[in-house]
Amino acid sequence: CGIIGIIGKAPVTPLLVDALKRLEYRGYDSAGVATLVNGHIDRRRAEGKLVNLEARLKAEPLAGTIGIGHTRWATHGKPSERNAHPIATDRVAVVHNGIIENFQELKAEMEAEGRRFDSDTDTEVVAQLITSYLERQMSPEQAMGTAMGRLRGAFALAVLFAGRHDLLMGARRGSSLAVGYGDGEMYIGTDALALAPFTKRVSYLEDEDWVVVRPDGCTVFQGKTEVKREIRQTGLSG
Ligand code: GLU
Repeated sequence: CGIIGIIGKAPVTPLLVDALKRLEYRGYDSAGVATLVNGHIDRRRAEGKLVNLEARLKAEPLAGTIGIGHTRWATHGKPSERNAHPIATDRVAVVHNGIIENFQELKAEMEAEGRRFDSDTDTEVVAQLITSYLERQMSPEQAMGTAMGRLRGAFALAVLFAGRHDLLMGARRGSSLAVGYGDGEMYIGTDALALAPFTKRVSYLEDEDWVVVRPDGCTVFQGKTEVKREIRQTGLSG
């Protein structure tokens, strides 16, 4: 329901949780964060309120300077730790707002290829689809663009890639997603409010946009075509 992604310089978990607090107003039933630790995806998730996630993080801290976070309002798969986002494989972690309408078809197709799913969410098809393309030697950009072409429904996504401390990707179809510009740091979030403590320089993505975010900026695409999105100064303060 609420999405945040940060490519930072400092430990990112407290910043992710702070942004999730700003997204609480949207409502949610579970929450989670994922980061890269020595290139590997690590995550903490909890059912219920953010205090539960904070307790998990206190018991088992999560290092890393790049990461994504999510507050979930379950549509497919009951609220539980197992179904909380980020949904991950060994290659990618995904947070998702909305519904993937053709998830059953995609799931059946990938299960027939021998892929094993470990959540009941529609979201997992996104993680598994991108993973299958990466395994076929596509670049993260090709994998994301190809996956976008297969997904039906309304969604906003943020994706973290194992081994890539310099890269996040986002996409939107129907749901909202904004990119925030920092100083050698970059952000993706559901809205400018989530990004307010970090930056006032924000671009709103348009429908069907997907974005490749790096520490020093981002590139926005519509299909395979690069497009420009204006950077605006928000009136919000952190
Ligand atoms: N459809 C996804 C799920 O049920 C995402 C729900 C949301 O927007 O939070 O996990």
